[in-house]
Amino acid sequence: MTPWEIRAAEMVEKQIRARGIDSESVLEAMRSVPRHLFLPEHLRESAWIDSPLPIGEEQTISQPYMVARMTELLAPARGDSVLEIGTGSGYQAAVLAALGTKVTSIERIASLAVKARETLSALGYDVTVFWSDGREAGDCLGPFQGVIVTAAAPMLEEWWSEALAPGGRLVAPVTVLSGGERLLLREKRFHGEYSDTWYDYCRFVPLLRGRSGGSS
Ligand code: SAH
Repeated sequence: MTPWEIRAAEMVEKQIRARGIDSESVLEAMRSVPRHLFLPEHLRESAWIDSPLPIGEEQTISQPYMVARMTELLAPARGDSVLEIGTGSGYQAAVLAALGTKVTSIERIASLAVKARETLSALGYDVTVFWSDGREAGDCLGPFQGVIVTAAAPMLEEWWSEALAPGGRLVAPVTVLSGGERLLLREKRFHGEYSDTWYDYCRFVPLLRGRSGGSS
């Protein structure tokens, strides 16, 4: 194993498996993605700590545990199409791609979309990144077997649920009255009804309206 693979394996045991995540496919995906390469160079040494980290533009790469937890709740199968709102560094998208899914990811800040596209394609992950406002239905209408939102949402946008295939799952940190957010899993039943279940309390950067930055 290379030095980063050793640190990734340690991260998985101490921060993720130790907290109760036992999906072997999620643990393997988290071990396989070079998280440090999704960070600005001066922060690469810190890539494996138990924390979110800044990626520029006042945004963050999520804490490894939170990436694993949301991926476990999404429970994607190999070959699924997955939509992510909030590409950020592209790390969550890479973990999903490592699970054999076809990922479409939307980012509202042009410079982050460009950087994530470069990182993902240099590492060979099958991810399409769009520069757009993921609160609005754009060109990626689905259907998707999974939708994952990685910024704090005041509410679920209707089009996210509509873009779900029957049997599909949506995971999002939704703002709650007590402050902060809570992970919401929405499952779309085969006859089109939804069932919602609440999980962990968490903190995410806010989902904002509109695109920002230059052309991409
Ligand atoms: N998934 C990311 C972390 C996301 S941080 C990773 O693995 O690194 C949240 C990201 O959501 C930020 O980059 C922010 O710019 C983006 N974002 C916020 N509001 C958005 C919106 N309406 N549409 C698309 N992206 C949005």
